Amino acid sequence: MAEKRKVIIIGTGPAGLTAALYTARANLEPLVFEGHEPGGQLTLTTEVENFPGFPEGVMGPDLIMNIKKQAERFGTVYQSKTVDSVDFSKRPFSVKVGSEEYLADSIIISTGASARFLGLPHEKELTGKGVSTCATCDGFFYRDKIVHVVGGGDTAMEDANFITKFAKKVYVIHRRDSLRASKPMQERAMNNEKIEFIWNSTVSEILFDDSGVTGIKVENLKTGEIEERQTDGLFYAIGHTPNTKFLSGQIELDDHGFIKTQGKNPDTNIPGVFACGDVQDSYYRQAITAAGSGCQAAIRAERFLDGH
Ligand code: NDP
Repeated sequence: MAEKRKVIIIGTGPAGLTAALYTARANLEPLVFEGHEPGGQLTLTTEVENFPGFPEGVMGPDLIMNIKKQAERFGTVYQSKTVDSVDFSKRPFSVKVGSEEYLADSIIISTGASARFLGLPHEKELTGKGVSTCATCDGFFYRDKIVHVVGGGDTAMEDANFITKFAKKVYVIHRRDSLRASKPMQERAMNNEKIEFIWNSTVSEILFDDSGVTGIKVENLKTGEIEERQTDGLFYAIGHTPNTKFLSGQIELDDHGFIKTQGKNPDTNIPGVFACGDVQDSYYRQAITAAGSGCQAAIRAERFLDGH
């Protein structure tokens, strides 16, 4: 027989774990599915310096482990399983994990979004050693250094501008000869004298030694010419993929696959189903904003259950 819960939380980044903490303290005995990347993007980073409460900084995996333990203390149950599909057509909602079925009166989705990578050899192992997908997190480490940013959207422009606060030179590598970014963001980047654009080009290889990234090979997609360039940092700003595949057709998503939530609330189009963290936020994407929205989702779930 299917196990039934008041709340099921899908995903364990700062959003899901904060939702677990709050629902557990409200005696809702949440069941949390950890998924295939337990802890989310923070487990892939090293030091986090911008999460309030840690004057000396905190290691990403330690931060996650602490919130996890904190939620466990109040009765959260974790399952290291990945949800395959859901059925939100009736209540209790159904969650399928392999051949098992779980039922819940409310669901909180916090499966996050994964930063896109170029797919180059060694890029994953060099993350934190010169390769980064988060300028807000890592820009600070590139004081007086040379940095290359890949991408032509708003994130790439914003990241490039942000990194110039620290770096002495920032190059933006874009695969076309025109940007996707909005006009004001383009203009700001174009008018920044520390930023230079490399058009119609892509990174074809990352060069590194024991200390991390030392350079890149950049291929001009029009001429086929390959140039070797020295760099201290390589920032990817080529978009994020929200982890919403398992929801196929069950809930309203935007054009990019992020869950649509309603205004300031974590409510989705299905009453009783809430979303928090990066899976519904392509804009802020910070650990602290994810944690905040996890708290909101928990409070909304609690009030929804009170009313039903
Ligand atoms: P986008 O999808 O808008 O842009 C991604 C960029 O990366 C595009 O220029 C794309 O090139 C390029 N790209 C994608 N894949 C590859 C690849 N494999 N190799 C090389 N280049 C690649 O993502 P963003 O993260 O920039 O923005 C996401 C959303 O968030 C947007 O709606 C944006 O407006 C919004 N946003 C708003 C901000 C603001 O208003 N302050 C700040 C940041 C984001 P191409 O153009 O050729 O497709």
